[in-house]
Amino acid sequence: RRVPAPSFFRRPLRPKILSKNMPQLSSISCVVPCLNEEANLNVLLPSLFAVLESLGCPFEIIVVDDGSTDGTPLAMARWAQQHPQLVYLQLSRNFGKEAALSAGLDASRGQVVVCMDADLQHPPSLIPTMLERWRQGVEMVYAVRATRSDESVFKRLGTKLFYQMMRTSGGLKVPENAGDFRLMDRVVVDALALLPERNRFMKGLFAWVGFRSEPLYYSPPERLHGTSRFKPLKLFRFAIDGITAFTTWPLRLLSVSGATLSILSFIYGLYIVVNHILYGDPVQGWTTLITVVLFFAGVNLLSIGVLGEYVARIFGEVKSRPVYLSRKRLGLGLDADPAAQ
Ligand code: UDP
Ligand code: MG
Repeated sequence: RRVPAPSFFRRPLRPKILSKNMPQLSSISCVVPCLNEEANLNVLLPSLFAVLESLGCPFEIIVVDDGSTDGTPLAMARWAQQHPQLVYLQLSRNFGKEAALSAGLDASRGQVVVCMDADLQHPPSLIPTMLERWRQGVEMVYAVRATRSDESVFKRLGTKLFYQMMRTSGGLKVPENAGDFRLMDRVVVDALALLPERNRFMKGLFAWVGFRSEPLYYSPPERLHGTSRFKPLKLFRFAIDGITAFTTWPLRLLSVSGATLSILSFIYGLYIVVNHILYGDPVQGWTTLITVVLFFAGVNLLSIGVLGEYVARIFGEVKSRPVYLSRKRLGLGLDADPAAQ
């Protein structure tokens, strides 16, 4: 019969092997931007707490309130009081999801940060799978919708067109159908914090910072309560924001089409003059004239409009106002756990 070894020889073997090959998770933050999501948060938070507790490391959940007018502030104050790991960050008004996400990332302190929506379209049960990838050395794991079959044909076409337009010649490729549900290593979060722009089109910024990124395919469930905050018109503005922030092809398109039209008009003008001199063809056609004048007036205004979009972006950046302002912060986050010190 073998005598058991003294207890200090019996060190746990598994964690040691793990730590040799894979990084050990020291802490995790979860950032949830929300706008009037009281009903959804009451369902999301219990399951998120359950998942994070099962990881066995210090964690924090940062709920960023992007100017909610429902019962969210009251409900979150209660949550933060009962669970000090929950941080409730209230912005001074609605700054938009991109700003709320930035606020959450700035406040996060975990070694790994997960961003997710409050409407349960981003299932917390995927977090362990994302962590698995992170342990294998992936610095950013982004969830990609496996299918968009739940959406209207119109929206799908628009999305397709958007990703096509976002494809810049510089080689920056925004992954298609990837939302803001993603897990990031601290290096990625720190890199994002370094980017000085005010117009924070996060999908583009995530792609711009680079790092080892990998998709994780999933089928998003339906929104639990309420309707999407991104109505078609807002989605369109959002797409324009992205295109103007990351590409310059609309400007180049203007120069190219301007040049092409000038050359064509010159050739046509020459044709009319020659026709008149050689054949004495009287110049006529009020209809043609007015059509051409109106067409070029339209092209001119469109060009000024496109130019204006870029000027407006520059105006926004030059003012250098903060991306968001916060009113208050409740909860301790990682400080709630003595192991995190
Ligand atoms: N959201 C936000 N500020 C806004 C709009 C939305 O913080 O101005 C939050 C919203 O509460 C949700 C997430 O962003 O948690 C995604 O919004 P939504 O589900 O409406 O967008 P979709 O899933 O349709 O893209
Ligand atoms: Mg949603």
